[in-house]
Amino acid sequence: MLDCFNRNIDYLRISVTDRCNLRCTYCMPAEGVAMLNHNDILSFDEIAEIVHYGVEHGVRKVRLTGGEPLIRKGIVNLVSMLSAIRGLDDLSLTTNGILLPEMANDLRKAGLKRVNISLDTLDPEKFASITRKGNVNDVLQGINAAIEAELLPVKLNCVISESSSEPDALMVKQFASEKNIEVRFIHLMNLETGEFSQVEGGEGGYCNTCNRLRLTAHGLLKPCLFSNEGFSVRELGIAEAYRLALKNKPESGSSSTSHNFYNIGG
Ligand code: SAM
Ligand code: SF4
Repeated sequence: MLDCFNRNIDYLRISVTDRCNLRCTYCMPAEGVAMLNHNDILSFDEIAEIVHYGVEHGVRKVRLTGGEPLIRKGIVNLVSMLSAIRGLDDLSLTTNGILLPEMANDLRKAGLKRVNISLDTLDPEKFASITRKGNVNDVLQGINAAIEAELLPVKLNCVISESSSEPDALMVKQFASEKNIEVRFIHLMNLETGEFSQVEGGEGGYCNTCNRLRLTAHGLLKPCLFSNEGFSVRELGIAEAYRLALKNKPESGSSSTSHNFYNIGG
């Protein structure tokens, strides 16, 4: 699929839920998000159909995200359904890692290839304060579980406020090198004001080579993280929603007042 600026769109990021078992200060309100009616959330059959259509038209990579994707009931089944789609070369997932100790093996068996795990600091108190309730040891166990289950390459996502040389980032970098895994440093962003920058060690934020579309848990296909546009697959049909998302993909991101990180998945 080519967009209006000749970029080859082959990557779909899917938010499978708005909800989360943490409350990171830069992502979620302290009280969490309102429970959505189950019928408002795309079913696994609907998600698989949207991925099928995408793959027939050139999508090669899918990443599951959230909210926290591992709290969506039956997520392992969704992974099985998507990994069976011929032509999909890469199926990955971004998680806070908390539930990986109990789920990593099943996810691997279901066909998940790899995971990105979010870790901003190794300091237990700071971690609890950033996530408003998390225990950093749960994430560390999750990282070990992912490595043991061979969800490789395991990559860490580390949000930084100033630079990748700040003390928490340096600690995460050192930890990653001991574990022989990669880290991507993501500058703290603000969707509303459109403050975004490039991901160090990753592909995000480079508008002229952007290859992504995003699907929200309610079925909006969004052309860009930093845009208010979104096209409902339920109202418009899958083909038309893809067509409009592609046609409306901006040359570069501006801002989004219609969505938050927890419902577009970062
Ligand atoms: N719950 C999963 C997790 O935390 O990895 C997946 C969803 S989370 C929204 C995806 C990524 O977005 C995480 O790496 C998170 O750190 C990042 N993120 C959330 N809010 C952000 C913000 N305001 N600026 C930059 N990155 C953000
Ligand atoms: Fe949850 Fe991930 Fe958002 Fe943190 S960044 S609140 S773990 S969705």
